[in-house]
Amino acid sequence: MDFPLLIFTDLDGTLLDHHSYSFKGAEEALQRLRRHSIPIILTSSKTRAELQTLQEKLGLNEPFISENGGGVFIPADYAMLDTTALEKLDDYHAKQFGRPYRNIRTIFETVQSKYNIRGFGDMTAEEIMEVTGLLKSDALLARQREFSEPFRFLAEPRLQELKEEVADHGLTVTRGGRFYHLLAAGQDKGLAVAQTTRLFQAGSPDKIVTIGLGDAENDYLMLKVVDIRVLIPKPDGSYENMDLPYLRKPAYPGSKGWGAAITAILDDFQLASPEYEDHRLH
Ligand SMILES: [Mg+2]
Repeated sequence: MDFPLLIFTDLDGTLLDHHSYSFKGAEEALQRLRRHSIPIILTSSKTRAELQTLQEKLGLNEPFISENGGGVFIPADYAMLDTTALEKLDDYHAKQFGRPYRNIRTIFETVQSKYNIRGFGDMTAEEIMEVTGLLKSDALLARQREFSEPFRFLAEPRLQELKEEVADHGLTVTRGGRFYHLLAAGQDKGLAVAQTTRLFQAGSPDKIVTIGLGDAENDYLMLKVVDIRVLIPKPDGSYENMDLPYLRKPAYPGSKGWGAAITAILDDFQLASPEYEDHRLH
């Protein structure tokens, strides 16, 4: 870490454009972050399998947080953190906050017909493709759930009643850009972000400044625990209603807003842009 900054970012509707899943508008900012070795921690409702693939696309090899804070996964070869207290899971050191998917799914099935809800576990890959616009290969990765069940209401949503009913089983419901998610109570992006920050802070002599970027209700607790908060607008230009102070609100949705917000923050910290560095070389 050249500079003690740490970025936690939501994906859908934030770093990735809502409809196309493109991160084109953020490419320059991403490049600038890479030059300064500033870690970008993907913090999403997506699965570990999806995040592995996205890290490759984005050229990242960093820790990431899957399924709305269900787990933190740190690549086994990641030298920057002391991971001795964590469990070894496949190619990662991991900390799991969520409950096993089969457990979540069992409870989902007991309330399913009463609330007329349909979850990923009920859907074929084709149906997931239809509701998300994902390619088949990505839809298959999205089905590899470990800690949470994304779902939709097929009838009038009775969210409060459902929340109260699943609370008896130790579960809760959060809402992302496309789906509701059934998950363990107490499992959220905020807790996972705070714990991950602690790991980085333990290895850094300087106070780390954290930046969070999100667009929906399930990003609230993540934005609450970071130092610099960015709320990205939705595709229609409106912002999620968030009762938090010092929210930075870029003017554009998706990756373009992400790029603009990160560029402004790096300028504030006077971290050189690629153009400036290129200029200096000549
Ligand atoms: Mg989102």
